[in-house]
Amino acid sequence: MDDSTDIAGERPGWVQRLRRGAIAAGDRIADLALPPQCLACDRHVARLGGLCPVCWGGFRLIEKPYCARLGTPFAYDLGAGALSAEAIADPPPFERCRAVAHFDEVARKLVHGLKYRDHIELARWMGGWMARAGADVVADADIVTPVPLHRFRLWMRRFNQSAALAQAVATETGKRFAPTVLKRVRATAQQVGLSASERDKNVRGAFRVMPEEPPEIAGRRVLLVDDVYTTGATVKAATRALLRGGAGVVDVLVFARVVRGGD
Ligand SMILES: [Zn+2]
Repeated sequence: MDDSTDIAGERPGWVQRLRRGAIAAGDRIADLALPPQCLACDRHVARLGGLCPVCWGGFRLIEKPYCARLGTPFAYDLGAGALSAEAIADPPPFERCRAVAHFDEVARKLVHGLKYRDHIELARWMGGWMARAGADVVADADIVTPVPLHRFRLWMRRFNQSAALAQAVATETGKRFAPTVLKRVRATAQQVGLSASERDKNVRGAFRVMPEEPPEIAGRRVLLVDDVYTTGATVKAATRALLRGGAGVVDVLVFARVVRGGD
């Protein structure tokens, strides 16, 4: 028995669909990785590609109702197109942001598994979740592109987790994956531990559209993919670079996001 089925069975709509997709994908490579483990911890599960009951219980999905612009959850349904106070007071340069889950314990384990342990297989499942949670922004996208790493950090880590997620989203949805639209022209300090204003300053001017790319993005709807949205400083800086480079509209899709306070 798949231990996580009972728990997922209580979840509506797209969660069930994504679980079925994850299980189908898991079946194909299950033979290579026995006994299968939960994607977020070491507990065994019956099939690769799911979370154990404990992790499912701690995985807090972001579902409607949410702010049409920032994707931050509302306590009450305020109707289609409703905006949060934050979106009105401080409109972001991107048009919309969508995320799969709150960035808490379980989402953090998944993100860190992808980032630091080269768990490339995680990217496929996480990308599947992102494609469904961000169905509206994905449907409208002309191209899917990741937040790039600076080449030194890429060399150190050998792997850009955002590119892996962007590729997984594009593969899942048949959208065009364009991994080299943006370049990180300046190495930046880690954002961890910085205040919101320090984060903004840290990434300001850090991105540039590659000279050969403007024809590709000119007037297009670009879906910018990152793993985590904390204050939004990174994706806002990358969005501004894309718009300066000629993109028509930029939407953002992340796996997990920090939700402060709430509306
Ligand atoms: Zn687990």
